[in-house]
Amino acid sequence: MLTTRRTQLRVVVIGGGITGLAAAWALRQRVGAAAALTVLEAAGRWGGKVETHVMPGPEGGRFLADAGPESFITRKREAWDLAHALGLQDRLIDPGSEARNIYVLDAGRPLKVPLNPVDFVTSPLLTLGGKLRLLAEPFIPARRDDGDESLGEFASRRLGREAMEKFIGPILAGIYNTDPATQSLLTTSPVMREMEKENGSLVAGALARMQAKRRARARGEQLPPAFATFREGAQELVDALVRRLSADLRCDLRLNAGARRLRRIDDQYEIELAEGEPLLADAVIVATPANAAAGLLRDAAPASAAGLARIRHTDIGTLSLAYRSADVRLPFRLNGLMIPRREKRRIDALTWTSAKMPDRAPRGYELARVFFGAGAPAMLTLDDAALLAAVRDELRALIGLEAAPIDYRVSRWPASFPQADVGHLDRVDEIERRLPPGLFLAGSSYRGLGVPDCIRQGQAAAQRAAAVVTAPA
Ligand SMILES: Cc1cc2nc3c(=O)[nH]c(=O)nc-3n(C[C@H](O)[C@H](O)[C@H](O)COP(=O)(O)OP(=O)(O)OC[C@H]3O[C@@H](n4cnc5c(N)ncnc54)[C@H](O)[C@@H]3O)c2cc1C
Repeated sequence: MLTTRRTQLRVVVIGGGITGLAAAWALRQRVGAAAALTVLEAAGRWGGKVETHVMPGPEGGRFLADAGPESFITRKREAWDLAHALGLQDRLIDPGSEARNIYVLDAGRPLKVPLNPVDFVTSPLLTLGGKLRLLAEPFIPARRDDGDESLGEFASRRLGREAMEKFIGPILAGIYNTDPATQSLLTTSPVMREMEKENGSLVAGALARMQAKRRARARGEQLPPAFATFREGAQELVDALVRRLSADLRCDLRLNAGARRLRRIDDQYEIELAEGEPLLADAVIVATPANAAAGLLRDAAPASAAGLARIRHTDIGTLSLAYRSADVRLPFRLNGLMIPRREKRRIDALTWTSAKMPDRAPRGYELARVFFGAGAPAMLTLDDAALLAAVRDELRALIGLEAAPIDYRVSRWPASFPQADVGHLDRVDEIERRLPPGLFLAGSSYRGLGVPDCIRQGQAAAQRAAAVVTAPA
């Protein structure tokens, strides 16, 4: 056990996903020479779920397959602003923000989600009663309190049970890899409640936001696209952060450096590593998923650790598939297919990446991505060959795709996708309230799981950790 205090103050960040790296970068901006920084990452690469596979294509071409996030929302500014702060503004592209050709599986048939008035009137997805109920949304009284509810309750209350069950639920389930009946609205999509509270309805809220954008454009403001990503995939953001941090002599970046547990010693933390000497830190940011944080904090913060262990995490995996365009014969143009759990299929969703972003595949080729693990967790246990065979069976049955891919990549994250049950934010407040001084949590398990949410939480934790090491002695 280490007992001597170092003269140099130190902050340790545990976890080198986008949260930990954003925290580390924000710390370097804030603490200057006041403290050294160590970032510990258990895996052999940086970025956690942010990873872009570069798959070699024909004639020197390549497929760019994002294993995790493919793009990020810009309404929450943090990822967009960080990209600019890192000098990546010319690397940003619009991944095709306009939603179209989205299908949902209904009783075994892919049905188009009605996203324009003509599709809405003719869609067999909803009965006439379901359509009228959806159109009545502006007249449903607004809930104006701050209490949480599930995404499913919110959508049923405002848009009707049928729309919720037939397509809104499956879309929300696909986006958040969750069951809308249990997922917290206030953690996952607080903007929906804000629109209801401020404007009285989702329709009025959407119109007000569209008008605000129109006015901003009329004033000559340049507005970002609704979503953004990077020319060479989401990992560009990670690579830029690692480049900047590596160039800083006060920053010690360690891969294959899993932390095992934290102990509080006087006003410092001793961090036991899977291998090698323990580290001493004056402040620690734990930027791992909550289930990993629970193990790390069991000695230093047992009450918080118990709360962390209760946050559920489900399995998720993605399979990227590269095809020759000539081999792909689809019955309709398809950008995405959502598969509700009630359909009892072995895959959860399909996105046709190259339909949205043609540059992700060489000319004459296509790139698609299948999500699995939520509806059928056993899929995560299959080896690559068995997984590919199972996915090909599903694609044949669902959209008649017979083609064999020319290449593929698999990514699996067992027990790593956080589920924010209703009341989640109150429980996170309580977990944080019970943390000892100098110890901070950040990341997708807490206050939103999108990349901008993770960056915001990393930056907020950095601000608090910086206050510890820059406070007058
Ligand atoms: C398939 C998929 C698609 C997604 N799509 C989108 C999207 O389109 N847009 C969007 O905004 N978001 C998306 N997300 C969500 C977003 O990517 C994640 O929430 C975010 O990347 C999580 O970042 P993080 O740093 O908090 O956690 P992670 O990426 O999980 O990183 C945590 C890191 O901690 C490390 N670690 C764990 N334990 C230890 C330990 N004991 N010691 C040291 N290191 C440890 C892990 O190895 C890991 O690298 C998607 C996620 C997935 C999985």
